[in-house]
Amino acid sequence: MNQHTDVHALAAPYSLNALDPTEHTAFGSHLQHCAGCHQEVADFQATAARLAAAAAQAPPAAMKQRTVAAISGVRQLPPRAATTLPTKRFGVPRAPSTAGRPSNPWKDPHSPPPLPSC
Ligand SMILES: [Zn+2]
Repeated sequence: MNQHTDVHALAAPYSLNALDPTEHTAFGSHLQHCAGCHQEVADFQATAARLAAAAAQAPPAAMKQRTVAAISGVRQLPPRAATTLPTKRFGVPRAPSTAGRPSNPWKDPHSPPPLPSC
C-alpha cells in the first residue's frame, strides 16, 4: 500500500487474504473503527463463500479409494534437520531451505506408480 492508496479500497483484497502482511495488519486496524469497511468485508467474504460453494464439485467416488490405496505405499518424509534460517526479507521470514532434500520427495523407488487421471 503506497501513500496514495485509499485505505477504504482495500476491503476486497483484505476479504480474499490478498494483501501483504503489512497491508493486512494496517487494514485490520482500520477495520476496528470503520463501519463501512467492516460491512464491505463481511459482504465480500459472504460473496466469496457463495462463489466457492457454487464452483465446488464432488470428486469421483473412486478417487478416494484410489488415493487411500496409494497413500499406503508412500513413505513418510524424514524430519528436517535444524537449520538457521536466513534473515527476513521484506519483513517476511524466508521459507526453510530445501538444500539436501531430494528434488522430488514424492519420487521414491518403492512408491507405487502415479494415479491415473480422472
Ligand atoms: Zn474504511
